[in-house]
Amino acid sequence: MNADQFRAAAHAAIEDIISYHATLESRPVVAPVSPGYLAPQMPTSAPAAPEGWDTIRPDIESLIMPGLTHWQHPNFMAFFPSNSSYPAILGELYSAALSAPAFNWLCSPAITELETVVLDWVAKAIGLPAGFLSSGEGGGVIQGSASEAIVTVMVAARERMLRRRAEGCTEEAAEAVKDAYRGRLVALGSSQAHSSTHKGAIIAGTKFRSVTVRLEDEFAMTGEGLKAALLECKAEGLVPYYLTVSLGTTATCAVDQFAEIAEVLKEWPDVWVHVDAAYAGAALVCPEYQHFSAQFGAFDSFDFNMHKWLLTNFDASCLFIQKRSDLTSALSITPSYLRNEFSDSGLVTDYRDWQIPLGRRFRALKIWFVLRSYGLEGLRAHIRRHITLGKMFAELVESRGDLFFIITPPAFALTVLTVRPFVVMDFKGDGNLEAGNRLTKKVADIIAAKGEAFLTSSTVEGVVAIRVVAGTPAVEEHHLRRVFDLLVEAAEEVVRQERN
Ligand code: PLP
Repeated sequence: MNADQFRAAAHAAIEDIISYHATLESRPVVAPVSPGYLAPQMPTSAPAAPEGWDTIRPDIESLIMPGLTHWQHPNFMAFFPSNSSYPAILGELYSAALSAPAFNWLCSPAITELETVVLDWVAKAIGLPAGFLSSGEGGGVIQGSASEAIVTVMVAARERMLRRRAEGCTEEAAEAVKDAYRGRLVALGSSQAHSSTHKGAIIAGTKFRSVTVRLEDEFAMTGEGLKAALLECKAEGLVPYYLTVSLGTTATCAVDQFAEIAEVLKEWPDVWVHVDAAYAGAALVCPEYQHFSAQFGAFDSFDFNMHKWLLTNFDASCLFIQKRSDLTSALSITPSYLRNEFSDSGLVTDYRDWQIPLGRRFRALKIWFVLRSYGLEGLRAHIRRHITLGKMFAELVESRGDLFFIITPPAFALTVLTVRPFVVMDFKGDGNLEAGNRLTKKVADIIAAKGEAFLTSSTVEGVVAIRVVAGTPAVEEHHLRRVFDLLVEAAEEVVRQERN
């Protein structure tokens, strides 16, 4: 493809993208295809002769679109959203064009320096304490995902713990001490923390224990719950080295009791605490949520995905750390081919030492474009609009208290509900959990079969629930009202069936 051909193809592609967004609602939100739909429609090997863009382009519509679930569709209310925006798409376009994997500062100083600057902007925008800024001992780095951020800090936490245990030993003795501790290290997270904490512990080669949470505490980890888990670990001879606390758990958007947890950890000062705010962290751009971030000074690291709810295309997971040397001392290995005078000078940041891979994409560009195109006021308006819509939806659900039960108070535009007649008793322990779960599952199945909206059902501490989250840029009040009507129709139908 030469420059002229690229010009024509790119202009056509931009038109396709604009028209896709404008007509999104006319498409089914969930891909209506069966497993294996694609291969029979494709040649069995790559073409030997070059194909023109005119031949390739129509296949997007005919082969790919039918197999897409449309995350930007206003009726996409499943999982958590994955926002996209035109400024972020432009960032991706330039990034693809420049294709410069800046693992060291030297590889492309602008890529490294822009990342440092915009992540400081983000840290300030979400009210993180000054310790997370690059002007001190901390700083931010863009990761691919919240899970990647967790594995990365877990490795740093493991190494920090081993280093501290071996402090003052000779090199040989230090190795022996570290070996003795390795098998006893345990990472913790609440039973509602995202599975990435457990997975991270597996990757880091350590044990994992979960901290029990209760409905009475709205599924938040409490200081008491944490202390009980820490003491159990101690009794088993285990050494806690890492803890995930959550701002917005996946199932219900629960927020752990940060102040109580920090208090308990005063007696366990070597435990690295990571705040996982993958989805809900976006709300911290609004000052009314920054009482949460104000408490993070007691913790070691914080991560949220701008690619979930902050108008930035996947991937843009923003990891902040209070002591960057904790990361670099665990992850920096410098073979001769990566050495250069700038790195040796200690005056530059080499982000390869802050992450697992070596190469990295130019992701700061899209964050920069988003921050400038919307401004903080625009981002706050985006979040507040969804929070208001979420509250409106929860009120609708509450207005049918005869049919539905909201498990925990709606939070961050998420409402989690069950079909009422059985479940409300189940939570109090004197009902029929199985029947409640069956009814809720049937309602979820009816909605899924209709295909008009995409919701997720999940199991929260043994109770099947339906999650509705209003977080796509395109969602409007009438979409949520329609989803509510669908839920009412389905619930009335299953309750009627159950009674007959
Ligand atoms: N943490 C929480 C609270 C989440 O909800 C999720 C995913 O939804 C993750 C972590 C994992 O996110 P990622 O896909 O960025 O690894």
